[in-house]
Amino acid sequence: MMKKICAWCRKDLGVDHSQGKNNAPISHGICPDCYRKLISFKAKSMRDFLNQFSHPVLLVDSEVKIISANKEGLAVSGKKIEEIEGALVGDVFDCKYSSLPGGCGKTTHCKGCTIRNTVRDTFKSGVSQVKVAAYQDLHHETGEHKVKFLISTEKTGDKIFLRIDEISEQNSSNDLIGSL
Ligand SMILES: [Zn+2]
Repeated sequence: MMKKICAWCRKDLGVDHSQGKNNAPISHGICPDCYRKLISFKAKSMRDFLNQFSHPVLLVDSEVKIISANKEGLAVSGKKIEEIEGALVGDVFDCKYSSLPGGCGKTTHCKGCTIRNTVRDTFKSGVSQVKVAAYQDLHHETGEHKVKFLISTEKTGDKIFLRIDEISEQNSSNDLIGSL
């Protein structure tokens, strides 16, 4: 059992009953009060918060709709903040299925989407996941690519921090999309 302390106000968050070292891998703990303050500020405050992290971090809801992202998150998406806030993760990363009827999260392929399933599991259980391998079919100008993501999740309030630990193109060692 580990004691948990809010990283913002140092308030004792009590004994951590979740899975030991996997708990709070991203924010290392923030109390509900500090989280509420943060989220009630303008969107820019949330981005400043997320910008503390050196990996791409997205704040998403239970449907994997993006609420905010840090600089690194924008860099890997190749999009502007206005384009990704309020957008679904599949649209932001150009998932090849997100253009099908229903869109991201609603097509028959979405049941097998590891990013979606990992976010939803963490949302339901409150248990963080660390470096889960997600193989996503993305669409680029040059064709379709299978891309491997390593993702970590952490629940905070009714939102999820989604960290991208690694992105690599499958079956081509010299064609990394981004080395993080
Ligand atoms: Zn706090």
